[in-house]
Amino acid sequence: MDFNELLAKAREYLPPEKVALVEDAYNFAAEAHQGQMRKSGEPYLNHPLQTAMILAGLQLDASSLVAALLHDIPENCQIPVAKLEAKFGKEIAKLVDGTTKLARAARQAPEAMTKEAQAENLRKMLLAMAEDLRVVFIKLADRLHNMRTLDALPTEKQLSVAQETLEIYAPLAHRLGIGELKWQLEDLAFSYLEPERYRRITRLVTARRTQRENFIAKVSEVLRAEFDKAGLKAEMSGRPKHIYSIHQKMERYAALGKHFNDIHDLLALRVLVDSVSDCYTAMGVIHSLWRPIPEAFDDYIANSKPNGYQSLHTAVMYLGITPLEIQIRTRDMHHIAEYGIAAHWRYKEGSRQDMRFEDRVAWLRQLIDWHRELSGAEEFLESVKTDIFIDQVFVYTPKGEIKDLPKGATPLDFAYQVHTELGHRCTGAKVNSRLVPLNYQLNNGDVIEIMTAKGAKGPSRDWLNPHLGFIKTSQAKTKIRQWFKRQERVENIERGRQLLEKELRHLGVEVEREELAHLFYHSNLNDFLAAIGYGEITTHQVAIKLAAQQAPAKTAPEVAPAAPAPSAVRVLGEGNLVTHLAQCCHPVPGDKIMGYVTRGRGVTIHRQDCYNVIYESEKARLVPADWEPTDSIYPVSVEVKAWDRVGLIRDITTIVAEEKVNIAAVNFTNHEDYTTSTFLTLDVKDLAQLSRLLVRIEGVRAVISVSRVGDEVVGKTSLRKKSR
Ligand code: MN
Repeated sequence: MDFNELLAKAREYLPPEKVALVEDAYNFAAEAHQGQMRKSGEPYLNHPLQTAMILAGLQLDASSLVAALLHDIPENCQIPVAKLEAKFGKEIAKLVDGTTKLARAARQAPEAMTKEAQAENLRKMLLAMAEDLRVVFIKLADRLHNMRTLDALPTEKQLSVAQETLEIYAPLAHRLGIGELKWQLEDLAFSYLEPERYRRITRLVTARRTQRENFIAKVSEVLRAEFDKAGLKAEMSGRPKHIYSIHQKMERYAALGKHFNDIHDLLALRVLVDSVSDCYTAMGVIHSLWRPIPEAFDDYIANSKPNGYQSLHTAVMYLGITPLEIQIRTRDMHHIAEYGIAAHWRYKEGSRQDMRFEDRVAWLRQLIDWHRELSGAEEFLESVKTDIFIDQVFVYTPKGEIKDLPKGATPLDFAYQVHTELGHRCTGAKVNSRLVPLNYQLNNGDVIEIMTAKGAKGPSRDWLNPHLGFIKTSQAKTKIRQWFKRQERVENIERGRQLLEKELRHLGVEVEREELAHLFYHSNLNDFLAAIGYGEITTHQVAIKLAAQQAPAKTAPEVAPAAPAPSAVRVLGEGNLVTHLAQCCHPVPGDKIMGYVTRGRGVTIHRQDCYNVIYESEKARLVPADWEPTDSIYPVSVEVKAWDRVGLIRDITTIVAEEKVNIAAVNFTNHEDYTTSTFLTLDVKDLAQLSRLLVRIEGVRAVISVSRVGDEVVGKTSLRKKSR
């Protein structure tokens, strides 16, 4: 990128004399950074230039752009701030100085700091913010560009910078309501912290893009017609969720025992209208069309979020089947959602006295007050932790170092935050000198002592069970998963292989293992087996995938009966001969058949009227054969998950009856999220029939998923014979 791009962007909203100022700053920075290179090998100047460009994207004022262009000069070029002040004035000098101080504070390793020093750091950050928020905007833009060029740093450094970005800078952008910066910071940090997961989610999201776009287009069309009738002008767009937010959603879903496929709202609909009253009108129209999901409604217009965000949020059951998230807001509100407080710094003469802004960001006013009122570090921290970081708890190590954790975090989260090894070796915890269970929820000010044992066995698998509440932070979860992966990769692969082979035997299916791995987005077979081994992929998922793969196309008008297993054939007069069904005539039960003794491959079963039989020259090789009477049936338990609706069970049982399959038991449970699980025990002849049935049930309206269930629900599911 060159300077002309920044100039063009600045000219869009700044008057010529301000643009000239930006030009001056650029020339000054170009000279100061002359010959300096970044670790990536590009000229250093590119960094301040990009930082300024990000701010120009938020349409921040000229002073912010100038300070961004100059922000690394005092640190990197031995040019004192005083010199900048002489050239660019007091305002700019203060902005640069504030940014530099923040950078210095952030550079100290948190482990090496006392409580006092940490409080001091936080205070500096908040005071710089309170004094002039533009310092933080510059800092956020600086960090964003550093994240974009993080590749150039050594891995160790990448991880710590990414971690800090996710823990401090992204939440800060969120607090300031700058959604635009927040998600970019989060996604970049996530791509470094959990590259594997990042790539997987990206792939999953891309794979469904067209499908989602079509869906949104369809919904928009319906809505547009209804809005027209109501005389409402609205702009609609599908809002793709960002990778990190999908990840968070997946974590929440995983905690509920659901899978990625259950996340239907990867894309939400955004409706932009002209006025506040139009917002409510639009919502009325939507709610009269589709049933709203009660708990999903939030009125952030009447009750705006602390960071100034306003919108109506609702979720409806689209066509009674698909949950759809919808956000309704005015263009003004949209602006604030994207740019947050930065929106108020956009260059407009006199707009700084915007009183609405003061009202909306009450917490910022409070911040400025602390500046005067608070004296002790402790008191200061106390206030900060109850407000700014309201979703976090601050706890102490026995040495008095402070650690911040998300609300609901446990001693294990704490142990993992202090040190990965401390987490792995943790055997117990004391909070304020009292022994507590490891899933104890930490409170502000708790002093935590982690107990370890020599030769501890490492993390327990229970720690990963979301129902037991041992772990809140995804960092700790990741570290535990990694431990299992590393420690037990060989065992995991082996266990995965055994589980898979057993399942394939049960299903009587022969499939390329590599192909199967690809179906689950694993390019490496061992990775896939290991994933089964440590429980990320269940064999039920494998069975469903296979059933779907092997099912005849749903569009076929007549479902051809699948070939029965060869064991259903009896070669008359012979013992246990290996039999194959001939590929030339595809005999099915009921056909008159004949065996043909091959050289070394057992007996091939043909239809008696098959060309190859009739014209066979060695008639001696033909042996009589018949179908084994199919008196064997197998009870199989199946769970059908669906959005609850009238007639659901009737429709399912009709399909089962059409297949002439007996239902040995039915049972159902309603869940709080409007879904229902129907448990069926079906007497099926063979896997082909089961597979066909599952696919047909899957096609029933409102059905989300169909799967065979394990012993814990309805008894044994292995295909054990049961005599009629
Ligand atoms: Mn910088």
